Amino acid sequence: MRSTMQDAPLSVARLVRHGTVAHGASEVLTWTGDGFRRATYAQVGARAAQLANALRKLGIDADQRVATYQWNDQEHFEAYLAVPAMGAVLHTLNVRLFSEQVAYIANHAEDKVVIVDPSLIEPLSQVLGGLETVEHVLVTGEDTDASALEGFGAEIHSYEALLAAEPDSFDWVEVGENDAAAMCYTSGTTGNPKGVVYSHRSIVLHSMAACMGDAMGLSPSSKVLVIVPQFHAMAWGLPYAAMLVGASLILPERFLQPEPLLEMIRAERPDFAGAVPTIWQGMLGLLDAAQDGDALASLKEVVVGGSACPPALMKAFQERYDVKILHAWGMTETSPLASVARAPVAAKGQDDEWRYRVTQGRFMAGVEARLVADDGSVLPWDDEEVGEVECRGPWVTASYYLDDDPERFHDGWLRTGDIGRISADGFLTLTDRSKDVIKSGGEWISSVELENAIMGHPAVSEAAVVGIPDERWGERPLASVVIKDGEDVSAEDLRAFLAGQVADWQLPDMWTFIDEVPKTSVGKFDKKVIRQRYADAALEVVSAG
Ligand code: AMP
Repeated sequence: MRSTMQDAPLSVARLVRHGTVAHGASEVLTWTGDGFRRATYAQVGARAAQLANALRKLGIDADQRVATYQWNDQEHFEAYLAVPAMGAVLHTLNVRLFSEQVAYIANHAEDKVVIVDPSLIEPLSQVLGGLETVEHVLVTGEDTDASALEGFGAEIHSYEALLAAEPDSFDWVEVGENDAAAMCYTSGTTGNPKGVVYSHRSIVLHSMAACMGDAMGLSPSSKVLVIVPQFHAMAWGLPYAAMLVGASLILPERFLQPEPLLEMIRAERPDFAGAVPTIWQGMLGLLDAAQDGDALASLKEVVVGGSACPPALMKAFQERYDVKILHAWGMTETSPLASVARAPVAAKGQDDEWRYRVTQGRFMAGVEARLVADDGSVLPWDDEEVGEVECRGPWVTASYYLDDDPERFHDGWLRTGDIGRISADGFLTLTDRSKDVIKSGGEWISSVELENAIMGHPAVSEAAVVGIPDERWGERPLASVVIKDGEDVSAEDLRAFLAGQVADWQLPDMWTFIDEVPKTSVGKFDKKVIRQRYADAALEVVSAG
């Protein structure tokens, strides 16, 4: 029997039409360094329409990719709205990546346009010559000197001048709900970064779920400080979710240090925020030093994820500043919200509540999960058995863009590479990670890429890189290096050799020189052994940098 319901595709176009009209008075605030610039959702919607008209004139049609190379700001939000709602595909480029990685990603996605913030012109100029498909660069800001971008074959435009010449309405395009709306690349565990392509349907469902009371619980009266970068996993869904319910957005642009963030909080009094643990760790240090117990009085809840949030950090915020940290877990491949750690109503007393809140959380309604053992068998949810977490659901990716990577999928389930246990009532606790990558301050460092770069040094015979715990950054890379007989090279020499091959923040700051990298029975680097030796203080580690 067919249902009698209308066949109305879920689309970003509908989300934009609804948000800019029903919530036209809600605001987007962007920090400028000494204050906020403000616009209403109605104004942002009109500017998004101008942007869409301008992009059409530049030839953007069908599902062509429009990339952003931007911090968190109003113009980035305008691209979030305009590009998918005109039927094209928004591609958020990670501004922290090294130029060769950016070039690989933009070429792989075949980006036609890049929108760039004035403060990112210099790094974009380093990479623009290698962007093979980019025809136009739109530079935001008033009277920006963009001469550094000339001469690379792309036409350079002023974003504001283009918008000013266009009408402020656009007939937003209803594409099929399973068509591509946006894409984001994530670090590959081996080889190149991999693209996740979000559909209109996945974005709308994820946004609705993000607003639900068992997730982030956003409402029209919420004021959301979005610290998590808009280039990272669609900023955890916060921008679209906010527009859906009319929550206002506070965007910190590039000012992600504790001092300006605190200034923004004091000035605009957000009640919700989202950021990785490193940001909150820095904020805690500043607050404790300032001895200002009321500084965060407006903040009720903050969502923290991207790396494991230390329970001590959660408790410090709760006890000293009355801020509730919601620990959440997910990945680019899961849009990214997959689980949020709110204690169940049945929790008895504070200890019981904390038992739940320090976990990675309870799966959201749209995300199914299972635990799988090494032999492929499915494990029970008894909070004891440990296995790899596998997920499926309407906002979980089924593949990577132009890259099957069958290893990462298992009978229609995404293999997350995260290892943990699940309680009978569906709370996930992660204990390890099987994928060979390092997460520092919420951003990936590829251990394989570092190893290959180090092994490119003529004096090195072998190198293995592992992530080791770090209070501030979550993890930092430790390089274990075997030097060839008769050669002599220091950690500083190796760092200098790597500089220019990877981003500065990806350079290992800890090094150990060993006789041989431990191997598994099949000859692979046995990184468990290195991590254990480090934990047992059995390695002689030198710091560099
Ligand atoms: P990304 O795709 O960059 O968002 O990274 C996703 C990965 O970050 C996950 O697969 C985990 O390895 C890690 N991660 C995210 N959230 C958490 C969390 N709350 N606790 C521990 N690891 C996390």
